[in-house]
Amino acid sequence: MNFSFRLSLPLALLSCGAAYAVFTTPTKQGLEQAVGPLSGLDAKTRRAFTDAGEFQAKKYPGVLDWLTQHEEKGQTYGQYLASRANLPDASRRKLYILPIGTFEKGLAPDLELLRSYTAAFYHPLEVVLLPAVPDKEVPAQERINTMSAKKQWKSTDILGWLPKKLPADGYAMLAVTMTDLYPDENWNFVFGQASLRRRVGVFSFARYHPGWAGEKPGAATGTLVLRRAAKVLTHEMGHMFGIQHCIHYECNMNGANHLDEADATPMELCPVCLRKLHHAIRFDPVTRYEKLQRFHEANGLEAESQWIKTRLTAIKAAK
Ligand SMILES: [Zn+2]
Ligand SMILES: [Zn+2]
Repeated sequence: MNFSFRLSLPLALLSCGAAYAVFTTPTKQGLEQAVGPLSGLDAKTRRAFTDAGEFQAKKYPGVLDWLTQHEEKGQTYGQYLASRANLPDASRRKLYILPIGTFEKGLAPDLELLRSYTAAFYHPLEVVLLPAVPDKEVPAQERINTMSAKKQWKSTDILGWLPKKLPADGYAMLAVTMTDLYPDENWNFVFGQASLRRRVGVFSFARYHPGWAGEKPGAATGTLVLRRAAKVLTHEMGHMFGIQHCIHYECNMNGANHLDEADATPMELCPVCLRKLHHAIRFDPVTRYEKLQRFHEANGLEAESQWIKTRLTAIKAAK
């Protein structure tokens, strides 16, 4: 089964003339119901799943945005529990990142940085960066895209090959590449593709660098590319734990239909999705936020660092 893309192709959507989905802005009561009752949790964990004004309810989507173009029913914490998602166990609890092809310095995000961000996000699971697969060993059809004049690999070929590459102790594996992807001849490109059942996926960062659109890199380009790649990796890993697209808050688990929409989503999880992840991997909220805050601070992600610092102060003070 192919799982839906976080980022699909606006041009295809524009031409399909589909009926627009209807979105209702969540109410405070609806948001509390989505998180579920918090009694029985210790004070700090309860505070971590409480929105005391630190989160933004999902905004009404624009005409090209994901929730206008896709009917999403949403998934409350209660519905997530009822879905009985397949979760990591003692023998399969590592997350793998598999680089495929060349990662050119200056264009590509730093893979070790991405690994350490994913490890903070999915603490306490171990995240392993595998050795890169050279271009010539990637078993995928390729073509030259007529619009970009750049090489593309067929994503479905890579997706079919990935389960064989998933180590026995791996819960999930995401392949990442700087080569552009296409899912079949009728598509111009795709940002990525995943199989939830096999818990593997492949995502291209090729279009994340402003140079792709002919823009000159600036002082903030490195941070922009890192933020984009970090968001897509953690978003797609979230799906691997059975977490569906978020319609409750502005959240890293929001669907995104185009790069501007993806850029506007926060790096972090909302209280609903954070609680789902907590069910899946049982982190300590303080330790997880501390790791993420240190990452943000060390890598120039100042707004994110400050946001977590404020949250941490509130969580640590909870009694
Ligand atoms: Zn998604
Ligand atoms: Zn969420």
